[in-house]
Amino acid sequence: MDFHSFLGNDTLKQRLSTAISAGKISHSYLLCGPEGAGKRTLARLMAAAMQCVDSGDVPCGTCAQCRKVFSGNHPDVIFVDDEEKKNVSVELARRAKEDLYIRPNEGKKKIYIFPRANDMNASAQNALLKVMEEPPAYGVFILLSTRGEALLPTIRSRCTELTLSPVEERVALGWLRMQFPQESTDVLRSAWRKSGGFLGKAKDFVGEGSDLCEETIALATALGKGDGLSCTLTLNKMEKLKREQLLPILQQMQTVIAEAMTIKAGISATGELSQHLATQLTASRLRELYDLFGKMAVASNANVGTGHICGYLAVGLRGQS
Ligand SMILES: [Zn+2]
Repeated sequence: MDFHSFLGNDTLKQRLSTAISAGKISHSYLLCGPEGAGKRTLARLMAAAMQCVDSGDVPCGTCAQCRKVFSGNHPDVIFVDDEEKKNVSVELARRAKEDLYIRPNEGKKKIYIFPRANDMNASAQNALLKVMEEPPAYGVFILLSTRGEALLPTIRSRCTELTLSPVEERVALGWLRMQFPQESTDVLRSAWRKSGGFLGKAKDFVGEGSDLCEETIALATALGKGDGLSCTLTLNKMEKLKREQLLPILQQMQTVIAEAMTIKAGISATGELSQHLATQLTASRLRELYDLFGKMAVASNANVGTGHICGYLAVGLRGQS
């Protein structure tokens, strides 16, 4: 356990880890990022790192202080929120302020985490202003917000601002794979794409399945198996689609084929459809198909009828190697 357990955001983690290990802790932090970006998780890691009594990398995750923070039982790590209310009230902010003047129970710091700082109105924020200007040496505020602009400039300027970034595909997929071992890679990648790279959101999207059109899946599967009959049947069905329904399929086919080409080149190995295509088809055939779907997408954009495009594809997809 240390900051590495938080995925992605390497520069930010490095900065925090170095600063906290060296005892350079700000009195106020503002963590910004959309829903599902991991703001609470990071805030908890920061709080544990600040309270940790281990001499190595913090948080160690095993000392009594760390364990209490991670189980939510540390008396000096306080979440200031009332989830039943729409806003974080001025009373809550005032209570936190008064409580801060009571020394920590057992921790090195007394840490107040505001998980919904974006839901604090101006008077709630103003209630904190004074104490944020001159807090006791042990006092730390960690404000979490979906956007920095939700806070008053006077509050914001007192905070060390940290913005969470999306997690890159390879790292995100590894993590999603551990959470959902039974799901296909295509479903996990769709979830990652829809989430914008934020893992908390990606988890919610996994249940929605793949964002590839069913025709794309059918066509790529048929090509991957060298199953000419299924190819023809799928194309026959596609002839009835409207032009605006056909275009995304052509574009998705290009993406899947492009991925298969990268797999062939030994660069990446992600989607299952692409894997099958890479196994079944030669590099030059993949290139031909990529160009074919590209040309058809251009034709579809230029108002060529769906029937014509599917007919042309039927000829082009035959003769596969
Ligand atoms: Zn520890």
